[in-house]
Amino acid sequence: MMSTKQARLDVIMQKILDDKVSPQLAEDALQLVFGDGNPDAEIVFIGEAPGKNEDLEGKPFVGAAGKFLNEMLAMIDLKRQDVYITNIVKYRPPNNRDPYPEEKQAFMPYLESQLEVIQPLLVVTLGRHSLNCFLPDLQISVCHGQPKRYGKRVYLPLFHPAAALYNGAMRQTLIDDFALIPAIIQKIKSS
Ligand code: URA
Repeated sequence: MMSTKQARLDVIMQKILDDKVSPQLAEDALQLVFGDGNPDAEIVFIGEAPGKNEDLEGKPFVGAAGKFLNEMLAMIDLKRQDVYITNIVKYRPPNNRDPYPEEKQAFMPYLESQLEVIQPLLVVTLGRHSLNCFLPDLQISVCHGQPKRYGKRVYLPLFHPAAALYNGAMRQTLIDDFALIPAIIQKIKSS
């Protein structure tokens, strides 16, 4: 039986289409990349925007950055099916350019609705775009790996796997930060 949460997520996905969010991006992209994984997840990962592979498959983080993300999940004994993964912007920006501020803003209410349905214990932001959509005053280079309680949520800012993939020092920092996730979850559960 489909979970009620999944049914509610499906309604949000349909609403993005019905509301014609970011029509120019929608026209340039092949399809909407809404999110993937377990609607009952304790952890939600939020990236920036789909790239070429994500646009082709309709799922977030399926290219090189996604493979790296899967490897880090395996390192802490999690599979993609255990977590939920999405992006701020749900259509691929042309030539993978950075999303514009108005594009990020346009998608935020729908992302907020996704999080309200899932109610994760921890929101992991991947990269500075994702971090600054929730916590605009923080700098990723300073606060990565430090859980931040803000409002009713706990956020963990991490470097973006695509940025860290080919940068030795950043890659190791991301892996080290990622390894903190189980202890952070335990602490949230016991608080
Ligand atoms: N980078 C992102 O930010 N999101 C994806 O889905 C893939 C790569």
